[in-house]
Amino acid sequence: MTTNETPAESTDFIREIIRSDLASGKHRGTVTRFPPEPNGYLHIGHSKSICLNFGIAAENGGRCHLRFDDTNPMKEEMEYIEAIQKDVRWLGFDWGDDLTFTSDYFEQLYGWAEELIENGDAYVDDLTAEEIRAHRGTLTEPGTPSPYRDRPVDENLDLFRRMRAGEFANGERVLRAKIDMASGNINMRDPVIYRILHAAHPRTGDAWCIYPTYDFAHGQSDAIEHITHSLCTLEFEDHRPLYDWLIQHLSVPSAPRQIEFARLNLTSTVLSKRKLLRLVQEGHVDGWDDPRMPTLSGIRRRGVPPMAIRNLIDRVGLAKRDSVVDYALFEHCIREILNRDAERRMAVLNPLKVVITNYPEGESEELDAVNNPEDPSAGSRKVPFGRELYIESDDFMEDPPKKFFRLAPGREVRLRYAYFVTCNEVVKNAAGEVVELRCTYDPATRGGDAPDGRKVKATLHWVSAADALDAEVRLYGHLFEVENPGADGDFVDDLNPESLEIRSHCKLEPSLAGFGPGEQVQFERLGYFAPDQDSTAEKPVFNRIVTLRDTWDRIRKQQANQAQEGKRG
Ligand code: ATP
Ligand code: MG
Repeated sequence: MTTNETPAESTDFIREIIRSDLASGKHRGTVTRFPPEPNGYLHIGHSKSICLNFGIAAENGGRCHLRFDDTNPMKEEMEYIEAIQKDVRWLGFDWGDDLTFTSDYFEQLYGWAEELIENGDAYVDDLTAEEIRAHRGTLTEPGTPSPYRDRPVDENLDLFRRMRAGEFANGERVLRAKIDMASGNINMRDPVIYRILHAAHPRTGDAWCIYPTYDFAHGQSDAIEHITHSLCTLEFEDHRPLYDWLIQHLSVPSAPRQIEFARLNLTSTVLSKRKLLRLVQEGHVDGWDDPRMPTLSGIRRRGVPPMAIRNLIDRVGLAKRDSVVDYALFEHCIREILNRDAERRMAVLNPLKVVITNYPEGESEELDAVNNPEDPSAGSRKVPFGRELYIESDDFMEDPPKKFFRLAPGREVRLRYAYFVTCNEVVKNAAGEVVELRCTYDPATRGGDAPDGRKVKATLHWVSAADALDAEVRLYGHLFEVENPGADGDFVDDLNPESLEIRSHCKLEPSLAGFGPGEQVQFERLGYFAPDQDSTAEKPVFNRIVTLRDTWDRIRKQQANQAQEGKRG
């Protein structure tokens, strides 16, 4: 089994429930749904729900619907509907013909609201939102019934129909389920199920001016679609009694079961569409698909392969308790795939010119370079070499400290796939900065080894000056500089001012011209990169996906040690 596949025996408490429902004959198949509200772009947290719902359907030969939960026209847009579909497909999932919209059920939902009224299970309330809140009570005190709670059925029906007909202003009246104002669960204290909103809906236009609330729409939509298991995050646990109450009190065609699981949380970022929207609107980032954003579109633009997200979700597993996953684990999952799959190339981000003084002027040659040491089938390529090269500025020190083994005056190092070179002379500008190194090469070391067996302590990457592509490279750091943004104050104050560093005039080996967006590459010794969507033949632009240094093992060991100490202590 490779890390690329979902383990066939993968199990968790939800999969156990489903298996036993299938074994007992309660259900003959499984139907799940992923129900985003189209009020923003999907983020990596949503992938947990996507992988779970689509994954379970696939494992059981069932179906998973993509349902847009579009009940709030104030915040929802077509742009989001399109983007969400693109993101789910990119993650590798397919809803087939099962693309649905809660708005398609508005008429049926309305009918069920009338049914509740007719059965004496719902009433029109004239209290304002504020008064309703004040009547609701607290966790320790029961609520107070609204003076309109005992309206006769006919009056309720008449008022509800007039609400639909548009006779009242926003907020003037609501429809509430008549359950129990003294319930220990505040969600059962006569929850609002319809509100007046004079707003055009992206799909139904002006057909409606009353809209069902999430609680009223969700379970009933599940029932219409014959969803067997309605999987949602823990914050809906307290809504489950209401979910079940509505299913029991309405003539719905099926009885889905709601099961809750813990959200995915990641360190050093925020996973909430509301907060992400703020970052976009206030211009802290460059749109929803800014490569620093935890949105699926940002992650995709940065160059992360979708399988890294799926592997992360597998590794995190399913729990009934909220936890925060270290961002380093996500990076580890990215490296795991790219180390195996990404071809290697050479690129110099901070160029320092090197002249090989004993290399004949006007000549050049091509050297063989391995494309991927982890994958022999990736083959090799030719890399041009000539008299003038670039190396990384950081790879030279005029006055090196003890542990610096790279290039220095009088020292010999290997240029990867090429030759040994020795630095003989340092050229400086008027400001005293090093601008050029003059070196000699040993022609006998072609390919990187000395026939006399002498060793060097460093191997540097380099790019031939005559052939280099001039490129912009965008280096990303964490969007936030703290692990838990907003823990003390406004999360925006925790933004990392150094989350983006743009390097212009980087030098790339010429074969990098052949890479397009979504094609990842390792720049040797530097990290994994992919062309940005802004990249053109004239001006290549690469995003750094992730550096090479993996901190996950260290973090895991620390955590294991802490756990050990915890046990001992
Ligand atoms: P947000 O808080 O980011 O606005 P949401 O829950 O309001 O998210 P929805 O569009 O309602 O967003 O989410 C669609 C589905 O994705 C829901 O079933 C929700 O439970 C699930 N989901 C959202 N965020 C996460 C997360 N961080 N981890 C796992 N599932 C999530
Ligand atoms: Mg929501």
